[in-house]
Amino acid sequence: MSGRSSLVWVVMVCGGLVAGTVSAMAEGSRKEDVPMDPSGMNDADWKKKLTPEQYQICRLKGTEAPFTGKYWNHKEKGKYLCAACGQELFGSSAKYDSGSGWPSFWEPADASKVKTEEDNSHFMKRTEVLCSRCGAHLGHVFDDGPRPTGLRYCINSGALDFSGE
Ligand code: FE
Repeated sequence: MSGRSSLVWVVMVCGGLVAGTVSAMAEGSRKEDVPMDPSGMNDADWKKKLTPEQYQICRLKGTEAPFTGKYWNHKEKGKYLCAACGQELFGSSAKYDSGSGWPSFWEPADASKVKTEEDNSHFMKRTEVLCSRCGAHLGHVFDDGPRPTGLRYCINSGALDFSGE
């Protein structure tokens, strides 16, 4: 009797998982140019949506090697968007050449677009920068930037998409 109860329980759990996967697939089929609603996205959903490099940076807080990303030396006018959810994060007017090999900005497009958290990993004390909408790891912010803010948002190219003017 107890064995049969266990079997039913397992089937119900599996059914729940299947239903969850199907609804996530419907979510992911939206048009790419429409900012995606990140609510309810789980790790498997992100893995499916992002490239391996984007997943490594945005979800696992990885860092690309300097001078290797597609935007560190990118000078076109336009908007830099979150690679994970499409939210506008930085404008080209606040981008500058920091010499670091990563895209660098002295301010976000709007203060509400990013959030920060203390990061004490790798024996360093740094301030992590994340997308305020989906929580994607973007990079770090330092206080050695140019005027007027004195800030340097040091962002991975792999966490960004670009939309030209
Ligand atoms: Fe995002």
